[in-house]
Amino acid sequence: MVGNGVASAGTGLEFDYVVVGAGSAGCVLANRLSENGRHSVLLLEAGPVDKNIWIHVPLGYGKLFKEKTVNWMYQTEPEPGLDGRSVFQPRGKVLGGSSSINGLLYVRGQHEDYDRWRQRGNAGWGFEDVLPYFKKAENQQRGADDYHGAGGPLSVSDWRHDDPLSEAFVKAAVEAGIPYNPDFNGATQEGAGFFQTTTRRGRRASSAVSYLRPAKGRGNLRIETDAHAQRILFEGRRARGLEFRQRGEVRVARARKEILVSSGAYNSPQLLQLSGIGPAELLKGHGIEIVLDAPGVGNDLQDHLQVRLIMRCSQRITLNDIINHPLRRVLAGARYAALRKGPLTIAAGTSGAFFKTDPRLATPDVQIHFIPFSTDKMGEKLHTYSGFTASVCQLRPESRGSLRIRSADPAAPPEIRINYLATETDRRANIDGIRILRKILAAPSLKPYVVDEAYPGSNVTSDEDILGYCRQTGSTVYHPTSTCRMGDDGLAVVDQRLRVRGIEGLRVVDASIMPDLISGNTNAPVIMIAEKASDMILQDAG
Ligand SMILES: Cc1cc2nc3c(=O)[nH]c(=O)nc-3n(C[C@H](O)[C@H](O)[C@H](O)COP(=O)(O)OP(=O)(O)OC[C@H]3O[C@@H](n4cnc5c(N)ncnc54)[C@H](O)[C@@H]3O)c2cc1C
Repeated sequence: MVGNGVASAGTGLEFDYVVVGAGSAGCVLANRLSENGRHSVLLLEAGPVDKNIWIHVPLGYGKLFKEKTVNWMYQTEPEPGLDGRSVFQPRGKVLGGSSSINGLLYVRGQHEDYDRWRQRGNAGWGFEDVLPYFKKAENQQRGADDYHGAGGPLSVSDWRHDDPLSEAFVKAAVEAGIPYNPDFNGATQEGAGFFQTTTRRGRRASSAVSYLRPAKGRGNLRIETDAHAQRILFEGRRARGLEFRQRGEVRVARARKEILVSSGAYNSPQLLQLSGIGPAELLKGHGIEIVLDAPGVGNDLQDHLQVRLIMRCSQRITLNDIINHPLRRVLAGARYAALRKGPLTIAAGTSGAFFKTDPRLATPDVQIHFIPFSTDKMGEKLHTYSGFTASVCQLRPESRGSLRIRSADPAAPPEIRINYLATETDRRANIDGIRILRKILAAPSLKPYVVDEAYPGSNVTSDEDILGYCRQTGSTVYHPTSTCRMGDDGLAVVDQRLRVRGIEGLRVVDASIMPDLISGNTNAPVIMIAEKASDMILQDAG
């Protein structure tokens, strides 16, 4: 039996707050909780310092997909809806967490997402409630307005490259009947336009760069890297400390006030389960002493699926042409080094669109990411031909999965089941989304650039064949959430102040607390969650 008592743990470090995980959320907490100088904070991160240079160059995210020094590199179990394929799940393991390896797109989701959270009983989480925290975080290049903040830690910028293909995509979407939208994070999300990115003067603005760097000199903040938290230690049902492994040694940190788990949608429920908070039969099966039978821990896992359409381009203007050509590649590198502009500033999408696959819907249910390159698998070699990609992402999947530990060994990767495409709504949205995307790709502005559709190919037209293509090739957009869901029902893990139900001195603050997946990319929402959590934690500290 693996025990959880703090009494047996020996002496170690002692702080007011111990934050587990220096990712999108954890860096925000470390900064905000140490800001007024009244509290001491220990930030533990399993990965290293963010020294890898590719972290800081936007296009470098392609190099980090399978870079195990900064990436947990998880895999799902065989997915029944994807022909039994296991889907690769990159997750940042470095200061900045996934915000150091992500695709940099700054998208908040829809106002209605947060109003739905409130409607589900989460007082204080409606759009009007969370907007001030999006603004507080933000340093918007275009300046402040009703929806945006300026002067916050997180730089949000327009793209620094002119690309005829990305512009043609936006024009083609308008020709296909989708309105132009200059700001996906403004009054409404619907429409076609250009993404903004979390960058500052052409360099990545991870949460480590934005929140940790300005705070790291503070005497009341200690940052420990290569420090893998293994279990939370309790006195009864009060979280008191944490055991972590650092360079082969097991150490203990005690928290005078609270432990804040910000280890991400996979590792936060894993840590709770390893610590005795989770479904009783699962914990018993692994010989873990039960602190609290919490059947919801690890439930409700949701993720965005993406299905990519690849087009052969008639002109040698794609990133494939630049990266595969020695001279053009060097010139692009030189341009970036000198001006921080050009193709190396490309993020996970340049332009895109949000639209409804069914006019009866209240808000868009599909997002398109357009990018002027093509590859068989993300993170692998670009095609030798000129190509570009547009992908369909269903925004509010109904399918639900789970995360469960495989053993009591903290080093063992958890068992991840997402159950992509498990419902008819999800299958329908993908099929209809692809049909609408094809209309955009055939519109006059893009037509001169298109030779043909390389994948799935123009012979794939029936619902059955399109769905078959989704099953054969669909993969993640890297947005797992909701495994420690906020709510007030029996399966909810945290309450509206993100305190773990039934336990004292313990909160979860990261993507895992989302009551359900928001309609967009998840980094900005997680940073908002951590900004709001910081205020609540400081209020509760008195
Ligand atoms: C490849 C990729 C592309 C993406 N693209 C985008 C995008 O373009 N736009 C967007 O908005 N979102 C994107 N996302 C999603 C977004 O980055 C995440 O939703 C967000 O970063 C999650 O934040 P988090 O704080 O919940 O977790 P993370 O940022 O993943 O942080 C968790 C941290 O905890 C650490 N940790 C975990 N377990 C332990 C432990 N036991 N002990 C100590 N430390 C631990 C991890 O190493 C990590 O640093 C992408 C994600 C990935 C992986």
